Amino acid sequence: MTYLSCEFVENGMCFIHNAVVLCSFSMCMKFEAIRIIDEYKGELFDWEEVKKIKQEYRDRFAKGDIPEVCKDCPSLKEADWSGTMELKYMLINHWENCHADCVYCHTHENKKELNAMKPWKILPILKDALSKGMLSNNGNVNISGGEPTCLKEFGDLMKFFLEKTNIFIMLNTSAIDYSKYIKKAIEEGRSTATISLDSGTRETYKKVKNVDKFNKVIENIKKYKKGLPADKIHHIGMKYIFIPGYNDNKEELLSWLKLIEDMGLKNIQIELEHHWYEKNKYLPDNVKELIEIVIEFVHRNRCNLSYREILTALGYTAPIKYID
Ligand code: SF4
Ligand code: SF4
Repeated sequence: MTYLSCEFVENGMCFIHNAVVLCSFSMCMKFEAIRIIDEYKGELFDWEEVKKIKQEYRDRFAKGDIPEVCKDCPSLKEADWSGTMELKYMLINHWENCHADCVYCHTHENKKELNAMKPWKILPILKDALSKGMLSNNGNVNISGGEPTCLKEFGDLMKFFLEKTNIFIMLNTSAIDYSKYIKKAIEEGRSTATISLDSGTRETYKKVKNVDKFNKVIENIKKYKKGLPADKIHHIGMKYIFIPGYNDNKEELLSWLKLIEDMGLKNIQIELEHHWYEKNKYLPDNVKELIEIVIEFVHRNRCNLSYREILTALGYTAPIKYID
């Protein structure tokens, strides 16, 4: 049956620390999410119940009754959505622990308490889904957190996806700690790892992240890149979130681009900081100029460029792709 819906409504599931929600996009864009299971702490599911809940949303979308938070979402598309409800698109985001303290992070206000939390285990749920035919063999999972390498289950989680499924893994990592699992997954072409350095210098990194780990991160990025064949280099993503007042100046951006050029990296992602945008609701002219510098760099160095949620919503809808 053809109707307007999205992959998360149909085949997705997102885990946050106390709930299962429909998707991550609305959390990034509007700081809210449709909670499909509340007060959740990692209990095994009755999958028939889960399917019933999800089916209610599918029916709503099929009738054109799109929830307010989903209206105008770029993920909506008209398609034949009559497939099964196997999980194909997942966000694993149920822990908050991280050794950085980025000024823009949702954990920033409550760092100490959130870092002290002990995350519940996700792996038994995934194994259960696999054994009950609820986990698709392909699709993608975004593991972001918190910092993935701080999660005790991280190694086992990576092994599970790599060995038991063909699901593609998308990681957001600070790269403060090096992980052999990340290296292996990138080498096998099964994962991307995106590192939001948000700076080109140690001083600005410290201001944004509140830790003095710039040099360590660069060293780890080089280790991830070392020995990678050319067709895997774009699996390392370099992200810059423009944070007005912190890193929205030409010198900083040029230093970041120089690092990327020197390391021979090819996947660039940019974004405007969400909280700033939520308060101000416009794209500053100086950031527009910085974006033009990035675009020029991308063409000159034949890189890929993607725009994250806010910039996409602000009209940057045409990513640049030199590498498949
Ligand atoms: S906000 Fe977008 S991605 Fe999320 S459930 Fe709604 S339509 Fe889907
Ligand atoms: S690295 Fe990620 S999880 Fe850690 S503080 Fe920064 S944004 Fe938050």
